[in-house]
Amino acid sequence: MTATATRTLENYIAGAWVPAAGASGTLDVTNPATAEVLAKVPLSGRSDLDAAVSAARAALPQWRAVSTIARARKLFELRERLVARSEEMARAVTSEMGKTIADARAEVARMIEMVEAATAIPTTMQGRVLEDVSRNIDAEMIRQPVGVCAAIAPFNFPAMVPFWFLPFAIACGNTFVLKPSEQVPLTQQIAFEVLHEIGLPAGVVNLVNGGREVVEGILEHPGIDAVSFVGSAPVAKLVYEGAARTGKRVQALGGAKNHMVVMPDAVIDQTVDAIVASAFGAAGQRCMAGSVIVTVGEAHERLLTPLTQAAAALRVGDGLDERTQLGPVISCAARDRIGGYVERALAQGARLALDGRGVSGEDIDPEGAFLGATIVDGVTPEMEIAREEVFGPVLAIIHAATLDEAIAIVNASRFGNGTSIFTESGASVRRYRHEVQAGMVGVNIGVAAPVAFFPFSGWKDSFLGDVHAHGTDGVEFFTRKKTVTSRYFSSGQGSGSYFVES
Ligand code: NAD
Repeated sequence: MTATATRTLENYIAGAWVPAAGASGTLDVTNPATAEVLAKVPLSGRSDLDAAVSAARAALPQWRAVSTIARARKLFELRERLVARSEEMARAVTSEMGKTIADARAEVARMIEMVEAATAIPTTMQGRVLEDVSRNIDAEMIRQPVGVCAAIAPFNFPAMVPFWFLPFAIACGNTFVLKPSEQVPLTQQIAFEVLHEIGLPAGVVNLVNGGREVVEGILEHPGIDAVSFVGSAPVAKLVYEGAARTGKRVQALGGAKNHMVVMPDAVIDQTVDAIVASAFGAAGQRCMAGSVIVTVGEAHERLLTPLTQAAAALRVGDGLDERTQLGPVISCAARDRIGGYVERALAQGARLALDGRGVSGEDIDPEGAFLGATIVDGVTPEMEIAREEVFGPVLAIIHAATLDEAIAIVNASRFGNGTSIFTESGASVRRYRHEVQAGMVGVNIGVAAPVAFFPFSGWKDSFLGDVHAHGTDGVEFFTRKKTVTSRYFSSGQGSGSYFVES
């Protein structure tokens, strides 16, 4: 193994790469397809976070004074430089997280799309004015930056999720501290190299590697004004409560259990393609992955065989191999945890339609965290596999007699991130869209993740907060409103009482 392969990652603070001086230790960053150690990530301590927050606070006045248009121009430059290194980032995503290289390229494209949306800041950050709210008195609402904003990211989108926040935050004139997932810190090292190249004032963006200690530090830190979190539901709750306790603005995106309803009139071959991509893409490790199918009426009989055949045909292997269709899960511990869900579902009476456990073959490294596509049929809504987030390539099938019953099953979930319906009936779509309790709905779309210009809008236990991530919600989150009421006595237009209509 070469010295570069086992380098210990550094933090990026105040415009420079620095060792994590307060780290309590390091963790190995491994390639889940091969178990190769790619780097060591420091578990930074409070002093490292303090340094990042101090740098971010110190940079605030200077960054805020940069004109909105000049900030947007920095983002145009960032976009160009990210595009130039997009293949390198995609390869980093696959190496550290495991998803296929095609999927990683799509993730990086979506990351860059976030920067593109944030370049619209001279328009999206505008306030509003109403002349003559009373005689010769005007009211205007302006938007100003919130201050120092921190984001905490999960392992499953090493490139994209941090960029749900970073471009919008700095476009609005805030400064930023990112804590990436300690399981996948490598892609953001490249992103921050690019951020360094565009010459932002020192301290505008900062990167602190680490785990729980950094998160707890962020929640308690008096120098941080806003926190964005993406990860599992229990940690989302902890972050939401912790940030609120110290008076911070907070948005916490949590776990998911996404249902895909298949109606009897669905176009089966294309529905199968969409379901396979949704359930098994990124090895089921997307917060928008469809993990439960609810078949309505005769859809079950039409769907099961082609779906099982398509899932069984997926080529499992290292995501860096262009032929691979299903990569590993994040770790061997995750693989074993996921297998446990399947075992308990069978013990509770479900049937295996396809078993991916113990998958092997010449493309599969025995050291890797592989699990083939798995389909469990005969599932009932009460079973654990129907209720809990499995976060792996495991699809559960529940059968319902009617659309009403299907909607009731979907709405009984404590999660409400994404859901899809497959049908050609406008009337079924209308009812589903109106009644379903989830924040992102796909119509004949398996992964209905909104583009950067719309909010990523989970409901129920999938989201804690008020305004969502990216799109104009991103601008809403990263700005504070100020309302100014004004008049000028020398204007010669008379003057009324502000409180009495005149
Ligand atoms: P996770 O909750 O384990 O970790 C997320 C972040 O929280 C990491 O940076 C981690 O260091 C930190 N963390 C973990 N445990 C902590 C603790 N006890 N105290 C303080 N900080 C802690 O999530 P993960 O396994 O990295 O990511 C997968 C989860 O993220 C899934 O549940 C998935 O649904 C969810 N997710 C949700 C969305 C969404 O938009 N709703 C998007 C992507 C992922």
